[in-house]
Amino acid sequence: MTDAKYDYDLFVIGAGSGGTRAARVSAAHGARVAVAEEYRVGGTCVIRGCVPKKLLVYGAHFAEDLADARRFGWDVPDCSFDWKVLTGNVFEEVDRINKAYTATLETHGAEIIHERAELTGPNNVRLASGREVTAKYILIASGARPHIPTCPGHEYGITSNEAFHLDSVPRRILIAGAGYIANEFAGIFHELGAEVTLINRSDQILRGYDEQIRDRLLQISMTKGLQFRFNAKFEGIEQQADGALKVSMSNHAPIEVDCVMFATGRVPNTENLGLDAAGVETNEKGAVKVDEDSRSNVPSIYAVGDVTDRIQLTPVAIREGQAFADTVFGNKPTRVDYHCVPAAVFSHPQMAGVGMTESQAKQKHGSVKVYVSDFRPMKNVLAGRNERALYKMICDGETNKILGIHMIGPEAAEILQAAAVAVKAGLTKDAFDQTVALHPTMAEELVLMK
Ligand code: FAD
Repeated sequence: MTDAKYDYDLFVIGAGSGGTRAARVSAAHGARVAVAEEYRVGGTCVIRGCVPKKLLVYGAHFAEDLADARRFGWDVPDCSFDWKVLTGNVFEEVDRINKAYTATLETHGAEIIHERAELTGPNNVRLASGREVTAKYILIASGARPHIPTCPGHEYGITSNEAFHLDSVPRRILIAGAGYIANEFAGIFHELGAEVTLINRSDQILRGYDEQIRDRLLQISMTKGLQFRFNAKFEGIEQQADGALKVSMSNHAPIEVDCVMFATGRVPNTENLGLDAAGVETNEKGAVKVDEDSRSNVPSIYAVGDVTDRIQLTPVAIREGQAFADTVFGNKPTRVDYHCVPAAVFSHPQMAGVGMTESQAKQKHGSVKVYVSDFRPMKNVLAGRNERALYKMICDGETNKILGIHMIGPEAAEILQAAAVAVKAGLTKDAFDQTVALHPTMAEELVLMK
């Protein structure tokens, strides 16, 4: 496999979810691997995405748990929250995982180069230090970054990258966007006591998720006191004499807040990457165009993860990295199956889904049966929390094959992961009907749906 003509068999740009997996497995297959990382090993998920976000979600949810605990007989004194303690502990955990990722790469013999890298040709890379290296294959795994609108005063706004590093919980925060990152941070800051306003240019949140489920989240969030402004196109931010930020938007009066966060999508990291020099084609969003094997139009250059803008989720980037390594260096051609990828929104309560939404299924199959369980979880009843969960199973009208499961409620993501196996396996509703309920749980609603 080794070709002495090149410095490396594989040069990976970016040590995030996809790049790390590809580098480690390729090295295990015997390839001479180097991986360049301009920021921190672990990438978005570990350093400023899934991991620290989920830990903040846990931290924030204690606000509800502590309030509910009183109804369960606990004498909970007036509690106070310390953002610095939470974020300090979160950063320690991030450091631990960053070290673990670094160690995994090193023990597999992949060389980590802590520098920015750019392509200079189909087999050539230039590092920030000026060093030039060659590789038989190059894998672009440079991820994506937050999109920031070009409006007046945008420099006063932050993104999810900076949200983890705020000095304190803002008293009033405006979040622009309505995707999963916007809704997750809206939930975190609201639980931690901020006045949260979420603005979106369309009239809905979480486009692409099941309509009924996202409507339930909207209704629960509004009942909790989160503010929403729809059909509100972001126009600009002006800093006031007292430091407050005045945000203007179409169709609504301006609003004054202490922090503005943009969660308006993510763009592939392909700028100044030398793609032109290497002849690599991108699509209209700037993502590297790849085939089913993650290969670009240049035969020696591949790309995986968010930079290809397929499904921007960590487990998908990891699978793409693994499939690349097995195909190119493991003599085991493998392709990623994108059918039935589950996804969650770590809001309060969580949303999760797999497969087709009701409207997607109706469009594709015409005749569908929808089974629903709309219930108040036992714990919420005793806590006096008037928050209902909603589970939906969408089945083919003729065969009863499950086309999708979508849910909102406590621990929805944990429950959905197991149910996703059944959807992926192509089971029918009958298989759920035949399964005895595990009582008393919320998940039992999945096998009791009418
Ligand atoms: P990344 O992990 O972004 O890694 C790319 C790496 O390349 C980075 O470390 C970057 O510094 C480096 N790099 C870029 N350019 C260069 C260069 N020229 N030279 C050297 N290094 C370079 N996904 C989930 O599945 N579940 C979640 O709950 C979830 N929550 C998220 C929450 C937030 C706030 C965000 C922002 C994302 C979240 N994601 C989540 C998405 C997930 O983080 C990404 O899909 C995943 O990290 C993509 O992996 P990747 O390898 O493609 O890129």
